[in-house]
Amino acid sequence: MRRTIFEEDHQDFRDSVRAFLLKEAVPHTERWEANGLVDREFWTKAAAQGMVVFSAPEEHGGAGLSDFRFNAVIDEQVALTGAVGDNFNLTNDIAAPYFLDLTTPEQQARWLPELTSGAKIPAIAMSEPGAGSDLRGIAATAVPQGDHYLLTGSKTFVTNGIQADLIIVAAYVRDGQTTNGMGLFVVESDMEGFSRGRKLSKVGRRAQDTSELFFEDVPVPAENVLGEPGRGLVERDGRHRRRRRGEVDQQDPSAAAGRERHRQVDGHERTATAALAGEDRHHPAVRGLIGARAEAAA
Ligand SMILES: Cc1cc2nc3c(=O)[nH]c(=O)nc-3n(C[C@H](O)[C@H](O)[C@H](O)COP(=O)(O)OP(=O)(O)OC[C@H]3O[C@@H](n4cnc5c(N)ncnc54)[C@H](O)[C@@H]3O)c2cc1C
Repeated sequence: MRRTIFEEDHQDFRDSVRAFLLKEAVPHTERWEANGLVDREFWTKAAAQGMVVFSAPEEHGGAGLSDFRFNAVIDEQVALTGAVGDNFNLTNDIAAPYFLDLTTPEQQARWLPELTSGAKIPAIAMSEPGAGSDLRGIAATAVPQGDHYLLTGSKTFVTNGIQADLIIVAAYVRDGQTTNGMGLFVVESDMEGFSRGRKLSKVGRRAQDTSELFFEDVPVPAENVLGEPGRGLVERDGRHRRRRRGEVDQQDPSAAAGRERHRQVDGHERTATAALAGEDRHHPAVRGLIGARAEAAA
């Protein structure tokens, strides 16, 4: 099927992503599937190639690239090579927008370099045993206690759950008997009261770690709150539309980023070109990124 939305830069990027996956992922897939985990070393190599959170500003190790077609290229190649799992989709398409759009300059300086270098792995913990599609039903709570919140709850089906270092957790902000909306809290894996549960076995995506996570009075500092506490559900909605696009690209790479499928997924009348093309597709960083890769591959 002839596709018209990609440009030369995307084709170059596709070639380098494919070469990288064939060399660094495909030979290990059997072992990763048996372990239910992708090696961390693979993740830092992918980051060194500029494939991880490249939407972050250059000063924090990214390429300042908000053109979603680059994300679509990675999702498509992951599906075509059958290597790794949802790591890229989760990190670049879902988690990155939270860390970019809802963070203060101080939070960005703290977290983005760790994410773009692959030193830290993100996760999003929203689903619970009793709440999936309708997140209004979650039971997790965050109780304000001076300069921190005490976070309590359990989450399940968390992608990257076994390896994640920075986990965005959705919880209701509860002050006494009053509930003040939902908040998004970044839990760091060494915080007291945090623990991981079972690595869940799945029918497919076997190289992807998916797990339960538990939070027992975890003291989350106020500076680890994303955006405005109380607006968590609103913040989540826009960002998850992006995830669904990435997942569609993985399911049917031949039609990756195709206009009709994205329109259906979004439920919007916008064309895929308008929806996917970032404002900065001619950003100098695009050329820099492609150039550096071509040089490395030569
Ligand atoms: C591989 C995998 C990875 C995941 N990764 C994450 C993750 O990283 N973080 C995270 O928080 N969660 C994650 N999830 C959980 C996922 O978000 C939930 O499974 C999903 O939201 C659906 O919730 P549920 O399984 O409880 O199903 P339910 O919400 O119980 O839905 C069951 C069925 O009912 C349908 N349904 C529900 N409500 C309606 C409605 N109002 N109208 C019509 N139909 C409806 C659903 O479409 C579905 O078919 C993951 C799940 C899987 C399988």
